[in-house]
Amino acid sequence: MPLQVNIRHLEEKDASLRGELPAAELELENTDELIHARRPLRYELTAQRIGDAVLARGWIELTLDCECARCLKPFQHRVRLDPWTAHLPLHGPEKAPVKDDLADLTPHIREDILLEFPQHPLCGADCAGLPNRGQEKKTKGGSQTEGSSAWSALNKLKF
Ligand SMILES: [Zn+2]
Repeated sequence: MPLQVNIRHLEEKDASLRGELPAAELELENTDELIHARRPLRYELTAQRIGDAVLARGWIELTLDCECARCLKPFQHRVRLDPWTAHLPLHGPEKAPVKDDLADLTPHIREDILLEFPQHPLCGADCAGLPNRGQEKKTKGGSQTEGSSAWSALNKLKF
């Protein structure tokens, strides 16, 4: 089920919306190969009818499973939008689609979560990249130091 509010019910009273939205409803998979939205989105919102519009506010939260762009290590990235608001006009050119008195908040959530996707996901700001690449560098540096110390030891013996 997408996250919908019944606009007729809102004429009588505000609605409290709280729960989880399945990842499939957000259709965020395959937007970025390093970022996977597989977990349900959690939300706690209040929806109100204000004039010719529906106003929803509260918070939304989604944990993304990412892969580091440098070292490919999997890590989690939490996106929390607090406060989060959505304004759905019920009339005019920007009118939100309403079917059977139900207005859908899901496209608004999707759009705002997508804006929070990391552009270049990193497991940490100091990520050094692939581990074997780092080791290669170290070995090279190490052998150089060893070589020079061996020479200096030899020099000491000679003189
Ligand atoms: Zn990394």
